[in-house]
Amino acid sequence: MNKEGGGFEFDNSFARTMEGFYIRAKAAKFPAPKIVLFNGPLARQLGLDAKNLNTPEGAELLCGNVMPEGADPLSQAYAGHQFGGFSPRLGDGRAMLLGEIIDTSGQRQDLQLKGSGRTEFSRGGDGKAALGPVLREYIMGEAMHNLGIATTRALAAVTTGESIEREGAKQGAVLVRVAASHLRVGTFQYFAARGDVEKVRQLADYAIERHYPELKDANNKYFEFLRALIKRQLSLVAKWIEVGFVHGVMNTDNMSISGETIDYGPCAFIDAYNPGAVFSSIDQNGRYGFGNQPVMAQWNLARFAETLLGVIEPGGPEKAVEAASALINQIPEQYTGIWLRGMRAKIGLDTEEENDIDLINSMLAIMENSQVDYTRFFRFLAFSAAGDDTALRKLFAQDAAIDNWLEKWRARTKKEALEGAARAEKMNKVNPVYIARNHLVENCLSAAESGDFSKTDKLLTALSTPYKSRMGFELYEQPAPKDFGPYKTFCGT
Ligand code: AMP
Ligand code: MG
Repeated sequence: MNKEGGGFEFDNSFARTMEGFYIRAKAAKFPAPKIVLFNGPLARQLGLDAKNLNTPEGAELLCGNVMPEGADPLSQAYAGHQFGGFSPRLGDGRAMLLGEIIDTSGQRQDLQLKGSGRTEFSRGGDGKAALGPVLREYIMGEAMHNLGIATTRALAAVTTGESIEREGAKQGAVLVRVAASHLRVGTFQYFAARGDVEKVRQLADYAIERHYPELKDANNKYFEFLRALIKRQLSLVAKWIEVGFVHGVMNTDNMSISGETIDYGPCAFIDAYNPGAVFSSIDQNGRYGFGNQPVMAQWNLARFAETLLGVIEPGGPEKAVEAASALINQIPEQYTGIWLRGMRAKIGLDTEEENDIDLINSMLAIMENSQVDYTRFFRFLAFSAAGDDTALRKLFAQDAAIDNWLEKWRARTKKEALEGAARAEKMNKVNPVYIARNHLVENCLSAAESGDFSKTDKLLTALSTPYKSRMGFELYEQPAPKDFGPYKTFCGT
């Protein structure tokens, strides 16, 4: 396929208007690119020629061997706090933005290659990606998207025909990633750390225009921008918690300005409910453990607020510190409110009562104590809503605490008009049957190493309608077999 193929129509606002925020990049040449996963629905949403792209010729375009017409490949500059320590210069060390496409719903989307070779930001790295992490990111992005959680997505995974060194030889791959943008908290930090207030202002204006256009003419718009980003991020993290997702590496360079889940590295879903769950091999202190994610979101948002202090008006820096601190300090309360709304829906409550938080917290404590599978609990609770406790009761073996809790929960639901079957149906719309369970993802990754993508395809099918039970997918509802053992994920490098 030549560079005109594929139906790409780029409109590269970042390259055009944000000089100084990036360095142009050149993709590596790969010996034998092959598309192993292709996201047809996403391709169509982007207005691309899906049929012709998902071909051996299309692989040349999707790995960067042939630059599609209109692409303007560049690597973005960003800094970031990694596990609390500040690195003033990270940037796209193994990624390049090809450009932006206005999708069929009018939304501007970044198209980025990840793993496409060295850039000006690569430092000691090879700029490449291994197949395993690329697949994990593809699967997780689809899982989250179909769960209704804001996320970047993969258009394709392409093996490169190259072998790369990652504690042994691994197959190389490129992920073609689609994002509302790749602006990060770390992008702001890069310029703020250099004291470049004008660049911070320019970046904020660009981000507002692209992601918060309703604020364009607001009074104190940079302050409102901070407020709006806080709200989006808290809503996002609450959703992670509600489905049992652990991002695993919430560094400030992995927190997006658009409010999407980004940079899937050592991420995982919890099985048994455990607020202390940590899966990442590099997270020794549990900084980014499951239950600590709201705390880390606040920490990151505080770092973001600091980058805006020079531009927040009026009243100058002193007033800005006061106002921004007030916003940051109320985050725990704001988060609890957002989370509570989601949890009420998960247990089938329609109305709000003050004691609901105790009902929910006691449920979580019982679940933790009995190591009950988090996802199944809520699906089985829907059976209870419809009048049958058998399934839920079985999850708890001898533990009688659940009986007591069920009694309280029933009394609470009786205060609402909704009848049982209707409540169950509502609950099933917010409580997934299928999540990207760790053992299933691992099975997909190891089969894919030997060229078998059928497991991945099947898992993606289950994940495409996560709230609906499917015939023939019963095993996908089950937690990991007992011998699966303690799960560790490795960073996506
Ligand atoms: P990540 O762990 O993907 O969030 O990346 C953290 C930083 O390390 C970013 O600046 C990446 O661009 C960079 N990086 C990660 N892997 C590589 C690699 N293989 N080659 C060059 N840079 C990398
Ligand atoms: Mg990253």
